[in-house]
Amino acid sequence: MMTDTNLTAILYKKGDIKLEDIPIPEPGQGGDRVAIEPGVPCRMCRFCKSGRYNLCGDMKFCATPPYDGNLSRFYVHAADFCFKLPDNVSFEEGALLEPLSVGVHACNRGGVTLGSRVLVCGAGPIGLVNLLTARANGASEVCITDIAESRLEIAKQLGATFTLKVSSRDPQVVAQQVEEVMGGKPEITIECSGATPSIQTAIYATQSGGCVVLVGLGQADVTMPIVNAAVREVDIRGIFRYVNCYPTALAMVASGKVDVKPLITHRFSLEDSIKAFETTLRGEGIKVMIKCAR
Ligand code: NAD
Repeated sequence: MMTDTNLTAILYKKGDIKLEDIPIPEPGQGGDRVAIEPGVPCRMCRFCKSGRYNLCGDMKFCATPPYDGNLSRFYVHAADFCFKLPDNVSFEEGALLEPLSVGVHACNRGGVTLGSRVLVCGAGPIGLVNLLTARANGASEVCITDIAESRLEIAKQLGATFTLKVSSRDPQVVAQQVEEVMGGKPEITIECSGATPSIQTAIYATQSGGCVVLVGLGQADVTMPIVNAAVREVDIRGIFRYVNCYPTALAMVASGKVDVKPLITHRFSLEDSIKAFETTLRGEGIKVMIKCAR
């Protein structure tokens, strides 16, 4: 609260209106449950005005310095970046709209649609939300890669058509293995590991005329076979977070089209936040949730 007073004009009788400070009312039942989209842009620049607010240079994003974010009991957020949750969507599902929106944006940028044949590189949380979104968008086949078998097991449970454990560091060998597993090259590859060899694989593996979406963020400078992409007209597209994706992600969850609950593997209280981050740091599980309410 900015103030502990509540200046109010009160009409006592005709011709008798007084300004008084009255107590701030507590929201009762029907105070809305919402999911928050954590980045609030300036709303004034050319990117905001053209609907690409994720590219705004004046973004206030939770937990991106200097903004502390919202691991707190009470938090104030811009109303137009709050999304009301229907009764059948839990707070945990609401929180998972954030990574799911990354999947929505990546699949949009890659053009994933009915019948698409998709390769997802990396089966971490972000690879998995891309798998879920690609399936929800109607992709007929999704192959997902990882170097860790445990992550591929989860991907299988979440509906991956094919999984491939990456063991070779030669990107062309891995691309060939993808082609064998899928029975042809995928039209769209969504790279979600950020690992340089995987980015290289993404290009070699993609069908001519297809699209590689770079989601994973690893090293700043990456060597990739750009001429191979150029002469085969493989488009390379980046993504930055998401834009106008929360309504879609919420609709996917609320309608039951996508079940994000299996992504949750650990739960901690706000008091145990440090343990939660240590769990993630050790690479355990998939999504580690921190419950901020008492
Ligand atoms: P994560 O580290 O949990 O998952 C990455 C996965 O890639 C791991 O399971 C790892 O085993 C796997 N991997 C590593 N090397 C590989 C290889 N050579 N081939 C195949 N798989 C390999 O991370 P995450 O939370 O899933 O995020 C993935 C990436 O997406 C990160 O780089 C993150 O920074 C990035 N990201 C980008 C955006 C964006 O807006 N562009 C948004 C969110 C996250």
